[in-house]
Amino acid sequence: MSHTKADSSMKLTGEHLKPMQIKKPKIKSITLLPIVLIGGCILLNRVAYPLSPNEKPVVCIDPGHPSETSAGASDNGLVERHINWLVALKLRSLLTKQGVKCVMTKSSEMEFVTNRRRAEIANKAHALLFIRLHCDAAGGNGFTLYYPSHSGRKYGVSGPPPLVCRESEKAAHLLDSVLKAKLQGFLHANPVRTDDSTFVGSHQGGVLTGSIFARIPTVLVEMCDLTSRHDDKLISTNAGRKIVAIALDQAIERYIEYRKLHAPYARSKGI
Ligand SMILES: [Zn+2]
Repeated sequence: MSHTKADSSMKLTGEHLKPMQIKKPKIKSITLLPIVLIGGCILLNRVAYPLSPNEKPVVCIDPGHPSETSAGASDNGLVERHINWLVALKLRSLLTKQGVKCVMTKSSEMEFVTNRRRAEIANKAHALLFIRLHCDAAGGNGFTLYYPSHSGRKYGVSGPPPLVCRESEKAAHLLDSVLKAKLQGFLHANPVRTDDSTFVGSHQGGVLTGSIFARIPTVLVEMCDLTSRHDDKLISTNAGRKIVAIALDQAIERYIEYRKLHAPYARSKGI
């Protein structure tokens, strides 16, 4: 900032030293105008986000399955798709009450939506976050968050861009820290992982399809493992799903606060 000011004063001083060139100072002032305006906007954004009272943060909630990947996991009589849907509805209700605009990738539990389409819905909504809800069934237990650490390629499209990877990593760790605290005693917290560790990701260059097409920060949450009887006990009840939804709501609200602080940066990068 001080550097810009110094440059500006130097230019103005330079102009005063050339009294004969009447038109030049005007051109230089006009040249400086966008810099001053952009600088002013950045400062305003830092202290006043949202920009207008009507602007709400947008979050895209993606209840996993059915998609081209599968209809979803099931174990011990529990169907992943159904749990994803129920938690998504609760989460939407909680976030909406906090003034967050929620966009869903499906309009009904059984609606088939490809993973590419899910990402495109999130992109189109200009969401701050693309949060993808799943349940694992892999013989483990607890919750795990995944993010894309690098770009992949599918259907002739490469993505996500490096910036989206970096922001997704930040989002995953921030959400994880809140979930860890809120779900302590309810669900085991596994370390944050990358898309490379997922079954689908490992078969297509280490990136999930939803991540390849995402142009906004994306995090996939395996909320529990259906093969764990401990996890089943929690997630099979309305009260248990509510605990998970409340934890996700608080984690996402924390992420929104983070994004408010970084709004000028995120906006300038188009994420
Ligand atoms: Zn799944």
